[in-house]
Amino acid sequence: MFGPDFPFAFDDWIKHPSGLGSVPAHRHGQEVAIIGAGMAGMTAAFELMKMGLKPVIYEAARIGGRLRSQKFEGADGIVAELGGMRFPVSSTGFYHYVDQLGLESRPFPNPLSPATPSTVVDLEGETIYIETAQQLPPMFREIQDCWSKALEEGAGFTDLRQAVRERDTARVKEIWNQLVPIWDDRSFYDFVATSYAFAGKPYHYREVFGQVGFGTGGWDSDYPNSMLEILRVVATDCDEHQRLVVGGVEQVPRGLWRLSPDKMVHWPRGTTLERLHDGAPRPGVTRIERAYGDKIAVSDRWGHTRLFDACLVTVQSWLLTTYMQCEESLFSPKLWMALDRTRYMQSSKTFVMTDRPFWKEKDPKTGRDAMSMTLTDRLTRGTYLFDNGDDRPGVICLSYSWMSDALKMLPLPVDKRVRLCLDALKKIYPHLDL
Ligand SMILES: Cc1cc2nc3c(=O)[nH]c(=O)nc-3n(C[C@H](O)[C@H](O)[C@H](O)COP(=O)(O)OP(=O)(O)OC[C@H]3O[C@@H](n4cnc5c(N)ncnc54)[C@H](O)[C@@H]3O)c2cc1C
Repeated sequence: MFGPDFPFAFDDWIKHPSGLGSVPAHRHGQEVAIIGAGMAGMTAAFELMKMGLKPVIYEAARIGGRLRSQKFEGADGIVAELGGMRFPVSSTGFYHYVDQLGLESRPFPNPLSPATPSTVVDLEGETIYIETAQQLPPMFREIQDCWSKALEEGAGFTDLRQAVRERDTARVKEIWNQLVPIWDDRSFYDFVATSYAFAGKPYHYREVFGQVGFGTGGWDSDYPNSMLEILRVVATDCDEHQRLVVGGVEQVPRGLWRLSPDKMVHWPRGTTLERLHDGAPRPGVTRIERAYGDKIAVSDRWGHTRLFDACLVTVQSWLLTTYMQCEESLFSPKLWMALDRTRYMQSSKTFVMTDRPFWKEKDPKTGRDAMSMTLTDRLTRGTYLFDNGDDRPGVICLSYSWMSDALKMLPLPVDKRVRLCLDALKKIYPHLDL
């Protein structure tokens, strides 16, 4: 994705008739280690294979990594997206592969999105039912307005977003270079609280903004993050126009594993990553170290060691120090510090399958949908409804939460989680037999 600190048009390059680039003919067939078969590893392996190199993929768990579409037993093609689930249309590189694989996508049922028949906001015990953004009570619209103004005053947002959209690298860099020293070590909450737009409003506005957020749901779990992280998200339109992949996003990395590219150097027609690996990736890596002649030695769980000229590591960086032995001289001390200090956000989702999308049925008394996409300050935080068609099972993400909200749920057994979610939702929908 083209963004403030990644101003490279990867999507244009992959579409280019000459491909991403070329390697000298005497290197064709040369092995390159790819550690991790998530979206990053699989994309890299696919593109390197097209250039005539031989990717050797290592995977410790399962293809797809954090794109993990868990199938419900006995229900054909009905999935719960346990990892990534909503992908903004601005992720043009990602959609390049979705299209290439012939996969279908549709709008994600975010709050107040066109794919969401109705949204319920339940805060401090008060419940609001809305079908369109125009029905939002004035306070919410004021909060939205405060957020737009805060972005403008604190980050010259219109200019930044315009420059990103126009792919004006020089302008993006000029604006971003001014923002980095100001916001790098200051939090999202600091940005909101010190903005003129919010400072003139009651504290409650900040609280509601955190609970309900913008676009995708509540954002207060992001309050401690660097404001630059938030600017990256909003400047690249990541919080808008999100879609889901019908049948599960895991089909994308798995599809690349099995796809034979139309154009490929060196390898015979019909070659796929799966064939190059005789059906399965190599097992998890246990050690990465330097070897003689500038080679990199990669050892796996089965005790095999192979030498490579190049090795691409796509695992979460903390695994380099916790799950593998990685030779210290491979990275500078500063880089090690950055790798070790990378902050991760915890997240928890709890899904159930329903026999049908019952939530679309109207409550005869109120004329409202029986249940709606729900944002709340209760422990469920965000409840998302997935309509797979009137005659097919539906899926409810009962709760999607982050950081400390997620930590409250993660240790609990699944039955208990579901029970807690249903108890919370029962308070919002007292007349619905959940
Ligand atoms: C709950 C959740 C929700 C998310 N929601 C979204 C979303 O809505 N939209 C979005 O765009 N993104 C979302 N993301 C982020 C997105 O899923 C990730 O950015 C993306 O999948 C990362 O891909 P990757 O290939 O870089 O890493 P990974 O998918 O983590 O791949 C790394 C792979 O390395 C493997 N590995 C680990 N150790 C070893 C080893 N020793 N040897 C070999 N292999 C190893 C792992 O098993 C894994 O398969 C979400 C992530 C999570 C967890």
